[in-house]
Parts: sequence; C-alpha cells; structure tokens
Amino acid sequence: MIVYRAAWVLPITGPPISDAGVSVDADRIVGIHKAPFPASAKVLDLGHAALLPGLVNAHTHLELSWLRGRVAPRARFIDWVRDLVRLRRDEAPSAVREAMSGALAEVRSSGTALVGDISNTLASVKPLLDSRIGGVVFREVIGFQRSRADEVFRQAVADLDAAAWTTSLRGGLAAHAPYSVSAPLFQSIVRSFVKDHVGITSVHLAESAEEVEFVRTGDGPWKVLLEELNVWDPSWETPRCGPVEYVDRLGYLRPGTLAVHGVQTTHDDLATLKRREVTLVTCPRSNLWTGAGTPPLHSFFEAGVRVAIGTDSLASAPDLNLFSELAEARRLAPGVTARDLLRAATLNGAQALGFGTEHGSIEPGKRAALIAVDGPPAGEDVEEYLVSGVTSSQVRWVTEYSDV
Ligand SMILES: [Zn+2]
Repeated sequence: MIVYRAAWVLPITGPPISDAGVSVDADRIVGIHKAPFPASAKVLDLGHAALLPGLVNAHTHLELSWLRGRVAPRARFIDWVRDLVRLRRDEAPSAVREAMSGALAEVRSSGTALVGDISNTLASVKPLLDSRIGGVVFREVIGFQRSRADEVFRQAVADLDAAAWTTSLRGGLAAHAPYSVSAPLFQSIVRSFVKDHVGITSVHLAESAEEVEFVRTGDGPWKVLLEELNVWDPSWETPRCGPVEYVDRLGYLRPGTLAVHGVQTTHDDLATLKRREVTLVTCPRSNLWTGAGTPPLHSFFEAGVRVAIGTDSLASAPDLNLFSELAEARRLAPGVTARDLLRAATLNGAQALGFGTEHGSIEPGKRAALIAVDGPPAGEDVEEYLVSGVTSSQVRWVTEYSDV
C-alpha cells in the first residue's frame, strides 16, 4: 500500500483536508489519513500540492479538434454554425485523426480522466482507446426530416454496435438538437437508451436565441438554414413552446440525460430539468465564442439541478483544459462556491456519464485516478486557487494505476 501525502487532499464530497495522505492499493483508493500514516505503508510525499480526482469533461467533440483556431468567434450563434458547416465540407479523415491525438494528449496532461465525447463518425473511439482517458462516446444523431427517421436511427445503432467498447469507454446515442432532429427520431433514441447500451444520452438544448425562436414560432434563421441545406420538412409541427418543454413532451428528459448548454433556460425550465433528474452540462467559454450568450450559472446552481462542466470543442474554445473552463465559470459566477464548481468538474460529471461509483471523488474503493496540482501559495484558499486557472505544467498524474 502506498500513501500519497500532499499539503491538501480534496475528497470533493467534503471540505479540503490539510496535510493529509491518500492510501492506495493497486488501482484502488483505500482511504484518507492524517499523519501519522499506517506503519506498513510506503509514503510518497507530493509536497506543496493539492491532491484531487482526475477531472471529468462532460461535453466535447474531439473530432472537431482539427478546427482549432479556424472558426472565428461570432455575435450570433447561427453565423458560427454557418462557418462550421462550410468548413466541415473539407474535413479530411487524416487531419481529423492527427488533431484528435494531439488534443487527447492535452486533455490528459491537463488532468482530465473522463470525457463525454460527441461524435458523428465514432472516429474518436480508437484514439480514446489508445489514450489513458475513459468515458462515453455518443454517436450523434441528426435528421430533421421525419421520413428519414427510421433509416437515420438504424444507421446510428449499427455504428454503435460495430464499435469496440470496453468497461472504461462506453457508447451511447445523442440527439443533436431540437432544430435538427425530428420528433420520431427523438423518441427512437429515448426508447433505445432506456433499454440498451449505457442508459445515458445527450442533447444540445436551449443553447441559442435562434433555437428558442424556431421552436416557438417555426420561423427565423434556423428555418432559413434548414431550407438552404435542403433538409426542411414541411410536415414539421411547430411545438409553440420552449425547447426544454418540447423535448420533455417527447419523453427525452430523464435521469441519464445530459442537457448541454441551457443558456436560454427559464426558471421553469430549470425546475423541469431538476424534476427529471437531468444533468445540465455548461460550457461557458463556448457559449461566449459562438454567440449563444452568457450561461446563467447562478440560476443553474440555485435551481438545484445537477451541473456538470465541459469545454465543448476546439471549434469554439481555445483549449480542452477543463481548469480553464472552471476559471471562466468562476469569472461569470462569483456567487457560486469554488467547492460547487469543483464538484461539477469531477463527481457530477462522473455520475452523469455513469462512472459515479468509480470516479469523481476520493473515497474508499474508487479508482485511484488522482492528480496533484502544484501550489497554492501559503495562506490562499485551495479551492479558489483551483478554479482560478491551472495550466498543464502544474498538473501531475500521481499513481501508476491512473489509466482509466
Ligand atoms: Zn456540443
């Protein structure tokens, strides 16, 4: 048994413990100790560092990594989407693969243990299996035309079934968004995620003002874009309500659903998400980049909904370092405690992705996927320090069994 001693241990389930050690046997956490440590244990001193579980990036799109620096920030979400659609017409598989490997190295070195990855092609499965990162890869399902719902769904399930999943890397289906997925397609995904695979799904929800306008009125820039892309469906019945209420009517909001963004959510929407035990995944840097707006983080936490955090992709964020995302969240929500933000970036994400019994906190029996972050300066609040921006050079993986 080894005891990793550090200036601070962050169990996540409770306050930080100063000058403490975490005992580890093989790949499992045994417990947290104050000195003196068990006589039989070998003590490895990590020095002036904070010891915490590997982070969980609950929403990213690794296959968009080749777009790093190529999609400019926009004032309107629809304009960012148009840029993305245009650029993706030139997507080359070799460039996608190469950029993903580099991105994954960054994800790992900045202390992330698990990802919730959205993929149109499942091209991220192999690089993830080759990396030391686990999580869920969601095969994204897009299809606005009702007549194509069965075909699109069957293809997505076939892709999912053909991939080589492991206990650490699991597959699921994710509807893209209310403006790009028909009602029957949403319902097919719900039926399948209840009975198959990991029982977890995801959807981009209440992200932009254009989405709200489209779901409420059936009109606006989204309709124009769908027509331009030749996927408009004249039989579409305008829900005439907000996007959260719409997908709730379709039965899509359940425990196991990750609702991503929620920038445009109302008080009632947040109450619905809480009641349905949905996890709300916030990606604040992406929301500012794409023109979706500023996520109401205070309201998310105040509503008592489970909040997780994601970086989104390199098409709308400068890096995939979740500590940087935490720093942006801290800037936008000074009233939310650093402890709540850290929990969102660890335990809440692990639970949302179905890894809550193995990851996300320092508790006996969990996987010893632990990181040490150098610092903080003497006298500084360690939790505030960890949400003030941490770079990869400050992060070390501390156990040889930290692969997930
Ligand atoms: Zn996304």
